Amino acid sequence: MKKVLLASLLASVALTLLSCNALISNPQISQQTQALRGFALNRNTPQAGIEKLVDPARIEANLAALTGKNPIAANTSIPERGTVQGRALTRQYLSQTLESLGYKVEPHEYRRNGINITARLMADEPTDEYIVVGAHMDSVRNAGADDNASGSTAVLEAAAVLPQLKGRKVNILFAWFDEEELGLIGSGYLARSLKKQGMKITSVHTSDMLGWDADGDKTVEVARPDGILWDYYQMVNKTHGLNLPLDRTSTGQSDHVSFHDQGYASVCLSEEWTSNDSTPYYHQRGDLFPTINKEFLAAGTQLMIAVVGDLSLKIPPPPSIQMIPHDRFPSRPRQFHSSYEEALH
Ligand SMILES: [Zn+2]
Repeated sequence: MKKVLLASLLASVALTLLSCNALISNPQISQQTQALRGFALNRNTPQAGIEKLVDPARIEANLAALTGKNPIAANTSIPERGTVQGRALTRQYLSQTLESLGYKVEPHEYRRNGINITARLMADEPTDEYIVVGAHMDSVRNAGADDNASGSTAVLEAAAVLPQLKGRKVNILFAWFDEEELGLIGSGYLARSLKKQGMKITSVHTSDMLGWDADGDKTVEVARPDGILWDYYQMVNKTHGLNLPLDRTSTGQSDHVSFHDQGYASVCLSEEWTSNDSTPYYHQRGDLFPTINKEFLAAGTQLMIAVVGDLSLKIPPPPSIQMIPHDRFPSRPRQFHSSYEEALH
């Protein structure tokens, strides 16, 4: 009996060694590995420039629809996104836009009149890993062009561009959160629900207020980047030749915190909210379409798409990651409202 066991053990060791050898000498696999290495080193392949497919005209059209500048259908426009009706129209626009891009829209109704919009982009090979890309779709009772039609538009652009990136190894969940302005309610419900389902989320990228750049330096604020994310954003910013100034902060009070609190590595992109190159119309009636710096919005969107694209291809992070605690960086609070009815200036 022992001899038989030993013999079968030896046989299985031999088999394992053989199959390892077969793996190494398999020309197809080594070709793939080489292709992958080549891609990681050579950034001039068309794939490496996926963010170049960002379309300023499409960004402008989505921004115009979400801010009520242009109608979303005959005789229908979104005057603001801080009433039940305004948010329903916003969901209608997001849904029709996603469907026109070929997505199946999955509304996440967490309570009466509290509904997030989500849609999935599956990887090219089966996996249970996800990257979340999201922004809040509600506003206070204003057009909310900067806060947060800008971020919502960035996520729509990611949903339009990223399907064209081939070889994705991680699924992407796009999300537009409801009721952020009342205290991160929609993203809180979604993050807890995904956690409960056991969804494997490798990182979360939110955008909130990405449309102001009065000093014209194109600085993107990178708020509370967990884990490898700060180093990864810096790396991709260089390797894709974007070279935007990045400002790391520890500012919270936006949807990234909902995911961070569930243990997911998260980050929020915005204009320079913390270092005061931010819209003077914050939570005011004047937060309108014409105040948005469309070039800056496109640049920030490109950075986010380049990063999410590389993460979905599993391009490795830089070799040495410095984990610096968030509290070493400045922060500036954002304001929540107890209801959408609160008066505006
Ligand atoms: Zn906001």
